[in-house]
Amino acid sequence: MPSSRTEPLRVLVVDDDAHMLRSITDILRLRGYSPLGAATGTHALDIAHEIKGVPAVALVDLHLPDMDGIELIGRLREIAALTEVVILTGNASVDSAVRALREHSHDYLVKPVKPDQLIGSIERAGERSQRRCAEAAMRESQDRLRLIFEHASDALFIADDAGRIMDANPAACTLGSQSLEQMRMLTMAEVLPENGVNVLDVRSATFAPGVLVHTVRDLTRQRRLEDQLAQAQKMEAVGQLAGGVAHDFNNLLTVIMSYSSMLLMDIDAANPMRGDIQEISNAAARAATLTRQLLAFSRKQVLQMQAVNVNEVVTHVEKMLRRLIGEDISLSTHLDPDLAHINGDSGQLEQVLLNLAVNARDAMPNGGALTIATGNVDLSDEHGDRHMGAAPGKYVMLAVTDTGGGMTKEVQQRLFEPFYTTKGPGKGTGLGLSTVHGIVKQSGGDVYVYSELGHGTTFKVYFPCLSAEAELIATTAEHAAITPRGTETVLLAEDDEALRALGERVLSAFGYNVLVARTGAEALRIVAEHKGRIDLVATDVVMPEMNGSQLVAKVLKARPGIRVLFMSGYTDDEVVRRGVIDGQTAFLQKPFTPDLLAQKVRQVLDLPAPAAISV
Ligand code: ADP
Ligand code: MG
Repeated sequence: MPSSRTEPLRVLVVDDDAHMLRSITDILRLRGYSPLGAATGTHALDIAHEIKGVPAVALVDLHLPDMDGIELIGRLREIAALTEVVILTGNASVDSAVRALREHSHDYLVKPVKPDQLIGSIERAGERSQRRCAEAAMRESQDRLRLIFEHASDALFIADDAGRIMDANPAACTLGSQSLEQMRMLTMAEVLPENGVNVLDVRSATFAPGVLVHTVRDLTRQRRLEDQLAQAQKMEAVGQLAGGVAHDFNNLLTVIMSYSSMLLMDIDAANPMRGDIQEISNAAARAATLTRQLLAFSRKQVLQMQAVNVNEVVTHVEKMLRRLIGEDISLSTHLDPDLAHINGDSGQLEQVLLNLAVNARDAMPNGGALTIATGNVDLSDEHGDRHMGAAPGKYVMLAVTDTGGGMTKEVQQRLFEPFYTTKGPGKGTGLGLSTVHGIVKQSGGDVYVYSELGHGTTFKVYFPCLSAEAELIATTAEHAAITPRGTETVLLAEDDEALRALGERVLSAFGYNVLVARTGAEALRIVAEHKGRIDLVATDVVMPEMNGSQLVAKVLKARPGIRVLFMSGYTDDEVVRRGVIDGQTAFLQKPFTPDLLAQKVRQVLDLPAPAAISV
């Protein structure tokens, strides 16, 4: 037997002559085969069923006691289609030979059989069996490759040297928007034009002389997502920095504003220093506006959210906008009368609109048209790519369009960064769009720019629609005409020394009994030791070791009815932020003036009891 064979070839021998069966199996075993003997057709079929691998060769006597040899061959083939059959018979009639050959038996041995003749025949049958197995394996592998080709998500082209397409998978047909028949009449260059809109990754491999396989992966979507992610990360980092700076500045500004306003209260109207102090106060107020913009950008400001109709915001500022843009620019509005409500801060929305309008004006120095439009839009999944920041759902869209100079791709990439401006020194601050971006993002929305150099610009702002059952959840700031006084006891927790001293002084001046604490721990000690009643705890949100909301949670345990006022320039504290948005928590934005502090304290103390505070 050929040495290439690793396992002995399995041969099923079926003969009812016991002597014959034994001598044949003995010969086969001696020659290195693995014979399996069966005296009846039934036994032979049982063996074929039982053994895992099919017998390579079946040597079948046509004369069997229980069934016709030809029938047995047919049934064996049903079980093991690749088995080669050799007929063995004592009466070599032409009739049975013809029948056997018709049943695809390839060899025919007449008893008595010489050992060499037997072995030669088995050897040939074995080779045929191996060939058939190899062919079947090849067919299976081709089928598998075809399946992969048909179902691959990458576009696959098979083309010749000249680029003429010979075959293309369904993904390739989709990519080229052509049927396979049309594809076969085209070249690679025609299907994949160099300057297509899509980002394509093309790889080529040669698998036979003159035939090339091209794998084309469409990376457009992936690239867009990567770009958007990089942009989002950049904005996040810049926002953190801006927020940190604004936070520290707010504390300083609160001190400057408060002391200058107290000086103004005390100083005689005729005193020549009054004007100087007024200047300090004005400059501090302007600086506070700047930090407010930075906070807006870093999304750390506390929005006073309520149900807002964007149309009303537009109508409210329309008059002011007309004055702002001047007579050379026409203003038209297209407001959807069925516009859904959004959850927003209308003051901040006005800011968004103003910033966009000012930019539009600057882009149209020689006049033009400014259009403001609103509408309900459904950002369904298919838009998901372009509007990655915005989850699929219903939105209110505010579009501001100008017919100005437009902008380059580079400017579009950077315009939301704080302090990014293309305007000359003293003309632009670069804070307009970063403020817009921050406000919109903090409102759960998103903003996109569409611009073409020389053709104008559209900014589209999307705000998530208010769900039908959502109610008005904002806390409305109440502004008392005169600042009311009080005699209650207020515990003030503030880690910033200057602010603490200021708060104590202001509240004492308004009649309150003030207890001060530098840390949360100190505040808790006072709460435990103070004999009398404490009516209100006014606390900074961001403090080392124990923050404001942790402190309040503990104070409320010790003195359940106590009123709470949080004070901060910004807040990362989700509990406080949620509380303010839900109207559950009283909050005073830094920087504040003495008036504002006194008003807020009075307002919180006058809330109907018990305080609706849950922390
Ligand atoms: P500023 O207006 O102070 O420069 P912004 O943040 O408002 O800062 O805008 C940043 C930059 O974006 C502008 O300097 C300008 O280059 C560009 N830009 C904004 N809006 C428009 C617009 N409508 N048309 C053309 N360019 C614009
Ligand atoms: Mg601007």
